[in-house]
Amino acid sequence: MITVLKNGATEEQKNKLIKWFEQQGLKVHVSEGEYQTILGLVGDTTQIDDELVGSLEIVDAIKRVSEPYKRANRKFHPEDTVVDVNGVRIGGGNFAIIAGPCSVESEEQILEVAEGVKAAGASMLRGGAFKPRTSPYDFQGMRAEGIELLEEAKAKTGMPLVSEIMNANHLHLFENIDVIQIGARNMQNFELLKAVGKTDKTVLLKRGLANTLKELLMSAEYIMSEGNENVILCERGIRTFETFTRNTLDLSAVPALKELSHLPVVVDPSHATGIARMVEPMAMAAAAAGADGLMIEVHNKPEEALCDGKQSLTPAQFAKLAERVRKIREAMN
Ligand code: PEP
Ligand code: MN
Repeated sequence: MITVLKNGATEEQKNKLIKWFEQQGLKVHVSEGEYQTILGLVGDTTQIDDELVGSLEIVDAIKRVSEPYKRANRKFHPEDTVVDVNGVRIGGGNFAIIAGPCSVESEEQILEVAEGVKAAGASMLRGGAFKPRTSPYDFQGMRAEGIELLEEAKAKTGMPLVSEIMNANHLHLFENIDVIQIGARNMQNFELLKAVGKTDKTVLLKRGLANTLKELLMSAEYIMSEGNENVILCERGIRTFETFTRNTLDLSAVPALKELSHLPVVVDPSHATGIARMVEPMAMAAAAAGADGLMIEVHNKPEEALCDGKQSLTPAQFAKLAERVRKIREAMN
């Protein structure tokens, strides 16, 4: 349920109403917009008398929100959320590119890629230290050592870091990681979602291979209901009957998610296509579809990569992509 307040409502009137809702056992989510204040009510609102609340002097309108996701719902927060990662803003017209290797493999590799993507215009560095691999015999990531190498790259380039967590017991290792990624395979690991929801780190939540947009938003809700509102949604392709590409990039997810939610939406065309030559066209299409950012896999020697080399761009190819995406965004304005 949401309560839209009238423009002239005083702080005192507003606080009194919030307190009253809280006494009814509800949690109140306040969204102070430029033009209106909205009180989003979470909990059992069945006993709330709509007519009574609607008749209050400071109330402009009340609406029942039927969707099960509340905090992630645009009805609760009509304006776009802008997530600020150490000065890098994403959402509400701010576009950010996250780039870097699938996995951190060595000091030389991560530093070379970091310098390369930074020079080409990336604003955050990605790199997996803990890797969710389909086979237990494949490279599993450098784990804690990989995190240390990312920290070194951050010290050298100043770029905020994005890295995937797979186990809440590893949270202490992520202290200097700016954005914690929840990978597609863990999108519905609800205990992990609750654990990152208790932190104040930005969370990049990737859509599961076979999950609906509603399920993605419910997973965002798990994080937000613990108090962490810094969530970025990521479309990374879903599994369909098509096998030419690694997954099928669902670009309609971008306008759909932006209609349903106020959270920023980024697109990962690398995992979506699995083919390096298809990354640039899909990145451009994602920008044109209104994405708030991109996540692109870049490797200094894709042919030698321990993971996902086939879909990785060289720093030079990434630079070309970044330039073409910039032109698309320019044309849109
Ligand atoms: C990744 O981004 O490193 C990754 C493993 O992606 P996904 O979870 O989307 O498969
Ligand atoms: Mn990868």
